[in-house]
Amino acid sequence: MDLKEYLGQITQERFTLAPEQCDDRQLYVALLALTRRLAEERPAPEGDRKLYYFSAEFLMGKLLDNNLLALGIREQAREVLAGMGRDLNAVEEREPEPSLGNGGLGRLAACFLDSIAALGLRGDGVGLNYHYGLFRQKFVDCKQHEVPDPWMEAESWLIPTGKTFTVPFGGFDLTAKLWDVAIPGAYNDRANRLHLFDVEEPAGAPENGIDFDKTDIVHHMTSFLYPDDGDEAGRLLRVYQQYFMVSAGAQLILQELEERGYGFRELADHVAIQINDTHPSMVIPELIRLLTVRGLTMDEAIEQVRRTCAYTNHTILAEALEKWPLTFIERVAPQLVLIIRELDRRVREACPDPTVAILDGQNLVHMAHMDIHYGYSVNGVAALHTEILKKSELKAFYDLYPDKFNNKTNGITLRRWLEACNPELTALIDECIGSDWRQNPGKLVGLLDFIDNDRVLEHLLAVKHSAKERFCRELKDAQGVALDPDSIFDVQIKRLHEYKRQQMNALYVIHKYLDIRAGRIPSHPLTVIFGAKAAPAYVMAKHIIHLILCLQALIENDPAVRPWLRVMMLENYNVTWAERLIPAADISEQISLASKEASGTGNMKLMANGAVTLGTMDGANVEIAELVGPDNIYAFGTDSDRVIRLYDDRGGQRYRARDYYHTLRVEPLVDFLLSPELLDIGDPKSLAALWRDMKGKDWFMALLDVEEYIAVKDLAVRQYSDRKSWARKMLVNIAKSGYFSSDRTIRQYNEDIWRL
Ligand SMILES: *Cc1c(COP(=O)(O)O)cnc(C)c1O
Repeated sequence: MDLKEYLGQITQERFTLAPEQCDDRQLYVALLALTRRLAEERPAPEGDRKLYYFSAEFLMGKLLDNNLLALGIREQAREVLAGMGRDLNAVEEREPEPSLGNGGLGRLAACFLDSIAALGLRGDGVGLNYHYGLFRQKFVDCKQHEVPDPWMEAESWLIPTGKTFTVPFGGFDLTAKLWDVAIPGAYNDRANRLHLFDVEEPAGAPENGIDFDKTDIVHHMTSFLYPDDGDEAGRLLRVYQQYFMVSAGAQLILQELEERGYGFRELADHVAIQINDTHPSMVIPELIRLLTVRGLTMDEAIEQVRRTCAYTNHTILAEALEKWPLTFIERVAPQLVLIIRELDRRVREACPDPTVAILDGQNLVHMAHMDIHYGYSVNGVAALHTEILKKSELKAFYDLYPDKFNNKTNGITLRRWLEACNPELTALIDECIGSDWRQNPGKLVGLLDFIDNDRVLEHLLAVKHSAKERFCRELKDAQGVALDPDSIFDVQIKRLHEYKRQQMNALYVIHKYLDIRAGRIPSHPLTVIFGAKAAPAYVMAKHIIHLILCLQALIENDPAVRPWLRVMMLENYNVTWAERLIPAADISEQISLASKEASGTGNMKLMANGAVTLGTMDGANVEIAELVGPDNIYAFGTDSDRVIRLYDDRGGQRYRARDYYHTLRVEPLVDFLLSPELLDIGDPKSLAALWRDMKGKDWFMALLDVEEYIAVKDLAVRQYSDRKSWARKMLVNIAKSGYFSSDRTIRQYNEDIWRL
């Protein structure tokens, strides 16, 4: 194929223009059409058993660059554009980012689709086509505001399939229309699909922020990802969304099974379903229902489903383990109620322990329990997380089904998170060890041969510096703020949650601010960069954003502190910003309270780009620490065993914030929230609420670890000045990041669970 000619054909068709005459927007549309066509034409991978990856979220990020890469035409496209004096990056800027995910869980699903396709495995994603995504974050008066984030344009990646399915809700039927996004595999000529269901008549954008009539289910089913669940209507709408997704998805699976010439009694031989967290759990009773409608007995249907479905657990946070009132399901999908009761009855008959039942005393349906009893695999997402599931959170289930439990440490696609987002580092790696690490990321360890090579170490530092300069330009263009690329970029980018402890990082900023004001100047200027959205109804998270933005404002206007310490909170942190910032990061902040972060994947992306982790022994940080060794990570904090004991009521060991607050070092930091200079900038009510919570409750124990955190971070800042030794740490981190390729993760899923 002559790419230039093909592009010319398309720009003629669409705009009656030659490519040279097109503006960036038109070139984007043409390249989109071209890559979409090439991907769409690819056949599915071969293989008899087919995977369906069910997820309420797929945080895909922009797709043009990634698809050009997977189709093997990225360099060609770059050259064709360059030949016309145009820049592919500028064209790619035109693409809107679909915001079909919250954070890590949705991004994991996207990395997995990329790896499944790259490995040539037959597996499609199943999800929903949210029109306004999560929300777009705006900062006004140091506070987060939410506005709709429409991403679907007339020209998008969505392929109309013409397929529809009828979803039977209590009292009405609704048609689910299927759209596909093609997922081309790198290194092969095949493509899978992401199936996104939508309603036929979606509502327009709400007029007032992200407020809309949550009872208008027919039109708003796919308006937003996770409508605000602060009220009952929002929670009910979530259940409607979940059933819409799984019913249509289950019907699609059975239709394809039939088309492939198999009987419904052969489902488990030809299909594997991965349930990504509990949001798609209703696929279990729904499939059982559909199979019995198609002639299977209850026993047969349950047996097929039990051999088909596998469940991934993503959290041990109690509030995040879904429990829906049976009355909700009665309203949304009454036809599932008898099935769920029967599934519960069978569990109770087999095991007397009431804590493993599906229905509890208040008639709440424990979705995870249903997944564990009626699936064949339960996996955690990092070694520590899986151990905690087995030892404490899901111990009763582990005792029942030890063989179902397994670990699959998360991964990231290095195609997006290294090759595409950091071309300079990629070139340096290629120069050192050749290019076959792409298909065999374990080969990155070859970089260790260069640990004493001064030229390579200097080159590595230069690549980092250039990425920082690039990020500063992009940030200046987008938000008008100029950062200093010679300062240390200390980066905490992730959803805002108390367990992730952005508030502890804020306390460090206060510590440094007070130090500098007192004349203690750090050895190197520091820029603390945050990126985080807070769930619209999560009040405490919003207080923390407010605190960070107030600190930012305070320091920006303080000429004595600003040369040494800056705080920068990115507006609307998303995949695109992650791709810009991660190559530029020096320090990767992974400071969750031990036992609370199931895995994390941001930690892996940052490591692969040469950032050094400052982290607790939580989630996959534990595995990072083992791989890189103690000299190449800044580890600190209370370990997960002790944290779990501190939550325990027995033995009088329970954590009390005030014991940690009333110390010489900690009290001034927390009390700074109520200092005149901060109250002058911020909302006194919000700051006081956060202050009260920190000293009186501090559920995620920021005060427990804050002193050690400050000491270790100060050490990292001091050691940063020894540039050569820092470059060695960077090199080791990059060299050991191959383990966290999602290609490795997917190989393990396939070998142990899917067996495609
Ligand atoms: C990777 C990623 C995340 C997950 O970050 P964690 O630090 O693992 O929580 C969240 N949001 C975006 C946009 C990401 O790319």
